[in-house]
Amino acid sequence: MTLLELQEVTKEYPVRLRKGKKNVIAVNQVNLILHEGESLALVGESGSGKSTIARLITNIESITSGQILLDGKSIHRKDLKYYHLYKNIQLVLQDSATSLHPKMTVQEIITEPIRNFFPNEKNWNDICVQLLTLVGLDATFLTRYAHQLSGGQKQRVCMAKALAVQPKLIIFDESIASLDRLSQIAIIKMLKSIQVQEQITYLFITHDLQSAKHLCNRVAVMQEGKIVEIFSDWDEEKLKHPYTKLLFRHSQ
Ligand code: ADP
Ligand code: MG
Repeated sequence: MTLLELQEVTKEYPVRLRKGKKNVIAVNQVNLILHEGESLALVGESGSGKSTIARLITNIESITSGQILLDGKSIHRKDLKYYHLYKNIQLVLQDSATSLHPKMTVQEIITEPIRNFFPNEKNWNDICVQLLTLVGLDATFLTRYAHQLSGGQKQRVCMAKALAVQPKLIIFDESIASLDRLSQIAIIKMLKSIQVQEQITYLFITHDLQSAKHLCNRVAVMQEGKIVEIFSDWDEEKLKHPYTKLLFRHSQ
């Protein structure tokens, strides 16, 4: 079953030059399908358009042309309330410091979306502890502030917050890129087991093919705003695009 579909999605940014203006094409006629429950990696060098795709899917920015469908319906319909979209699609960024309010406790951070989306829910505390357990933390973290957490723990809290609304899709935009290798491996393992339990679809944006290999079944490769290849077989012989082969060789 298709969960999300990008059809001929293009995003142009106007940039001012000394003489006049020009458009940067950040995403260029991208077609991409995400199947329900799969884990798709989006890899590519810096500036290839990966984060722009994340911002378009989450409606933080609007597309220049093309369309994005969630469960077959355009996410850009004006009559679609934003909260609906955000409940279904959550974004976890690399820099968790900006996503975690410095003056809020972990409990306040995680319960905020629950209060928004499930106003009748009374068992915030229990749910909060369950979510913390899911991401490998425990109840002792409830009263902590962001500055009392390690990098890996901050990312786990961001993931718990994203999971709190029971989204269909979570987009990770370089979410574990700034962690050390061991923390990355631990979080990937955790994400895998959460996916099995909760049936969530992942879009895992990374420049690191090794973490993509551990978490994802399919990999979409971006270069200069275009998806140049999608592969699922980790066999260099079967790769077609020279850029994918280059990426592959560098990751060995
Ligand atoms: P990636 O996440 O793969 O590193 P981005 O999606 O952030 O790439 O950026 C893709 C391209 O779009 C880059 O060339 C970048 O400079 C450009 N870009 C991104 N955001 C803006 C913006 N707000 N205004 C102008 N250009 C932008
Ligand atoms: Mg980026």
